[in-house]
Amino acid sequence: MFNLARYFSILSLILIGLAAGLLGLLYREVSVHQMTSLAEDRNVALAQVLKNVLGAPLNGLMAASVGQDASMLQESDESQAMQRGVKALMGGTAVVKIKIYNRLGVTIFSTDPSQVGESSLANPGFKAALGGQVVSDLTRRDTLDTFEGVRSGIDLLATYIPIAGDAKAIEGVLELYQDVSPFMASLQRMLWIVTTVVAAVFALLYLMQLLVVRRAQGILHDQAERIEAARSTLEIQVDARTTELRRSNRQLEDEVAERRQAESKLNYLAYHDPLTGLANRRYFLERLEASLSDAVAKEGRVAVLFIDLDQFKQVNDSLGHGVGDELLVSVSAALCEHVRLIDMIARLGGDEFICVMEAVRSEDEVAMLAQEVIAAFDAPFRIGGHDLFLTASVGISIFPNDGTSVGELLRNADTAMYRAKALGRGHYHFYTPEMTRDAQERIQIEMLLRRALDSSELSVHLQPQVEARSGRLVGAEALVRWESPELGNVPPARFIPLAEDSGIIIALGTWALRETCRQVMRWQASGFELPQVSVNLSVKQLERPEFVGTLLEILDETGIEPGRLKLEITESVVMAVDDAFSLLDRLRRIGISLALDDFGTGYSSLSYLKMLPVQQLKIDRSFVVGIGTNPEDEAIIRSVMALAQSLDFEVVAEGVETAEQAAFLSESGCHQLQGFLHGSAVAPAEFRARWASLPR
Ligand code: C2E
Ligand code: MG
Ligand code: MG
Repeated sequence: MFNLARYFSILSLILIGLAAGLLGLLYREVSVHQMTSLAEDRNVALAQVLKNVLGAPLNGLMAASVGQDASMLQESDESQAMQRGVKALMGGTAVVKIKIYNRLGVTIFSTDPSQVGESSLANPGFKAALGGQVVSDLTRRDTLDTFEGVRSGIDLLATYIPIAGDAKAIEGVLELYQDVSPFMASLQRMLWIVTTVVAAVFALLYLMQLLVVRRAQGILHDQAERIEAARSTLEIQVDARTTELRRSNRQLEDEVAERRQAESKLNYLAYHDPLTGLANRRYFLERLEASLSDAVAKEGRVAVLFIDLDQFKQVNDSLGHGVGDELLVSVSAALCEHVRLIDMIARLGGDEFICVMEAVRSEDEVAMLAQEVIAAFDAPFRIGGHDLFLTASVGISIFPNDGTSVGELLRNADTAMYRAKALGRGHYHFYTPEMTRDAQERIQIEMLLRRALDSSELSVHLQPQVEARSGRLVGAEALVRWESPELGNVPPARFIPLAEDSGIIIALGTWALRETCRQVMRWQASGFELPQVSVNLSVKQLERPEFVGTLLEILDETGIEPGRLKLEITESVVMAVDDAFSLLDRLRRIGISLALDDFGTGYSSLSYLKMLPVQQLKIDRSFVVGIGTNPEDEAIIRSVMALAQSLDFEVVAEGVETAEQAAFLSESGCHQLQGFLHGSAVAPAEFRARWASLPR
């Protein structure tokens, strides 16, 4: 560590030494200069006194000096007079020696006579004085012969003073030696004292500063230690943090990798149907959008094929969702396998699939593809021990004729698919503009039907049901009629399916039920007693949780005995409604009769039938039509009869138009008949007029 005190001490001592030395030197210089100046002044003053007092011998000596040798000069009178005069004048003063030179530098007088005759022409002091200057020179002599005798160890100040003649011309030089030894000795003493005091003061200052420096050094040391401690703590922390960062960096990398994986999985899920692995709706829409842009650029055509499975709902409802899911997977596989020409197949959801065919050259090509799709369903799907026979209906729209946007093409393919479905199972249909007109018409009918519910456009007509053996009236089926101011008489076949699709059937069915019960009770009040009345029930009504409540309300409100009310349900009801058995059982316990309408057209299995709390089977009109002409229909009717007998069901045949049909049915054991032979559905007043008068 940096040692402040040590460097301070060394530097301070050097500086103290230097300062003390310099100050001593300075003091000496100043003192010597002052002393020299004073001694010089004194020498000048004494020289003047000398000139004044000894002017005559001096001038004589000067005048005689030229051309005389030294001994002659020494012995001359003037010289003797000078020796005496000088001794008298200078005795007791500090002047210890005098020398006089003539202009030529020759010593013409000296208090040491041996020096007379010597030349001092080269002496700088002499030269300066000859120039008119007074100069002094401080010297020390080990021995000096003074006019008072020989002296040793003496400090002298020799002053050269010019001697001017009458014409002010310099005629010679006077040299006075003044003894300054006492002064120099005291100066030396003072010098020591000053130097010592200065050194002592500096040493004191040095000590004080040393204390301060030591203290500062201590503080610095403490701080350095603290900084060192903090630094090592920091180093440890930095190490720990670095390790932590490295670890979290690794974690981060792992997380990033995981996230990437999850992202690609998400991306896959976002664009694929998780069940079948086919492209999903989103993928399909994006792809179709791209195909359309491409087709616009290339002026090409694109076909959209909307595929709907015809009986999927029944399978799903009766065999469960597990089987339904497996079926969808198998269907997807079959579609991918059979359908070759397509560019993409996707599952839109539920049992709806869709294909895109790009670069369409002709409608025949598209029709071939549709046939391939339908052919994929030729073989049954074997799932969970069941052989499931399915068919598909395909609706086709083609860009740009049937629509220029994705939405329009999809909507029109969907519309065409409904038309294909209407043709029966396993058909395809191209879209035509009339379909849109039909769809618009459906929308209009729906709107008018909603309004009809609130006005008196709807009515209930009744069709008689008679005992097969006797022809006696045993009941009637209530059938809704709609007399629209805009559309005229609209047949139920046209508006009932529409009401089912739109949900209007719930309000419509409730209205028909209430109206029928009221009618029966009005008749009863006026003396016409109809033994039983059948009312058709839609699956949509039964699905409503409030259905039984509404029914009880109507029974309560109209006062009709439950036993006189029969509800007609189709097989699909039993399969579609959750918990259909317990619901039907509840109706049975209320006392209401139940009939299975359109029997033979659905998929009811024997085991199903056995468990159903239903009393009556209604043989569908399509079988009755074949009596007398189609032995197969007759065989079906006979087997239905046998079945009904063994399971203890009552059987009613609908659509009986001829006596031959009636006879066949009666012979086969059919209990009741309903059809134009005995009367079509008519308004209540007409019904009463026709039947009230007949004996029962
Ligand atoms: P559905 O319940 O099978 O009714 C029997 C249909 O056969 C009635 O047609 C009836 O007029 C017709 N019909 C009866 N005898 C003969 C015959 O001898 N020959 C021929 N060709 N037809 C005969 P409608 O009235 O057009 O009703 C059609 C369907 O509309 C009904 O079939 C029923 O499913 C439905 N429907 C009618 N009213 C209602 C209703 O109030 N509620 C519900 N949910 N459906 C109703
Ligand atoms: Mg019916
Ligand atoms: Mg029917």
